[in-house]
Amino acid sequence: MPTLKFAVLAGDYIGPEVMTEALRVLEHAAGQENLTLAYIKADVGGAGIDNHGTALPDSTLKVCEQSDAILFGSVGGPKWEKLPPKEQPERAALLPLRKHFTLFANIRPGLLYRELTDASPLKTNRIPDGIDIVCIRELTGGLYFGLPKQTTTLPDGDVQAVDTMVYRKSEIERIAATAITAARARKKKLCSVDKANVLETSVLWRKTVTDYVARHAPDIALTHMYVDNAAMQLARDPNQFDVFVTENMFGDILSDEMAVICGSLGMLSSASLGAGKNSLGLPFGLYEPAGGTAPDIAGKGIANPCAQILSGALMLRFSFGLEKIAMRIEAAVKKAVTSGTRTADIAFGGATVGTRAMAEAIIAQL
Ligand code: NAD
Repeated sequence: MPTLKFAVLAGDYIGPEVMTEALRVLEHAAGQENLTLAYIKADVGGAGIDNHGTALPDSTLKVCEQSDAILFGSVGGPKWEKLPPKEQPERAALLPLRKHFTLFANIRPGLLYRELTDASPLKTNRIPDGIDIVCIRELTGGLYFGLPKQTTTLPDGDVQAVDTMVYRKSEIERIAATAITAARARKKKLCSVDKANVLETSVLWRKTVTDYVARHAPDIALTHMYVDNAAMQLARDPNQFDVFVTENMFGDILSDEMAVICGSLGMLSSASLGAGKNSLGLPFGLYEPAGGTAPDIAGKGIANPCAQILSGALMLRFSFGLEKIAMRIEAAVKKAVTSGTRTADIAFGGATVGTRAMAEAIIAQL
């Protein structure tokens, strides 16, 4: 029986709650196709700090290195908030993981089912069929990583801080390649978002994406948009986009805007793909819900497990090449939710179910 080898890093607060249910759904879906899950659980974030003294213990990193993918929950919360910033769970676990595995491409589906349009702050007549777009964010370059990055006191006594926005052509080309793959699997429409009227890096970005698409993907309809306009267009008419691709900081902001217009964080998954290949010759990746650890609802058994389950589906698609099972899981989530099984975050005052019952409804649809 083929086995799927992945690391399970559930993290903190609702992390383990939704992870337990996601694993049940994945076990079920895999079992139906005669596949076996061979996952290893490891501590990360606050759990890493409590049990090993660090947010990303060496033993956890080793488990990840020996796996074909990482299924990640979420980390952090009030318990560790007083630690110095560098030791905080998110900063000390997620950023090093991204760096260690060169996870340069963040893929975030912006999905809102037609039946859930009330969850969006947008007027429902703007999104009569819900929302279905994809954001591809470059994750390891640009302003967040460029050097110098420092604060200095000037000779006149004033204080100055510097961040550096830097991109290489090769970095832009590899994210363009990811965006092309994503666009090909959809409507073949790709919008590249930049600030080429002001930023040197954006001029290179635009030229590189244009050349790369012309050379490698003439079948893709490529457009360009300035980031300030993109922020407005997302709120005005999100479905004018199919796939959009952008650099790190712009993607950070636009993907959060996208999450808000799509309603609950409990429904949104994400994939961060690495430059390296796994033992199957497919992209190594880290798969996680868009939301955080939701300490306000942790321990109550009411968190929505869908984002974690859908992240598992993305893992099957990208790191294991199992498109058919991924689609089956996505369809089962959609059917369960649209036929009325809802956790509190997507119930709008109607009947609600807990985390376990939501997963069971999805398994029933499978
Ligand atoms: P959050 O995403 O945890 O919660 C924001 C709101 O969304 C809350 O009301 C929460 O109840 C709700 N929510 C989130 N996921 C949900 C789900 N699955 N089901 C139902 N409701 C859900 O954001 P926050 O409160 O700003 O952050 C809490 C902690 O999580 C912080 O320590 C933050 O640093 C951390 N965090 C971690 C990650 C990560 O691990 N990648 C991402 C974001 C935030």
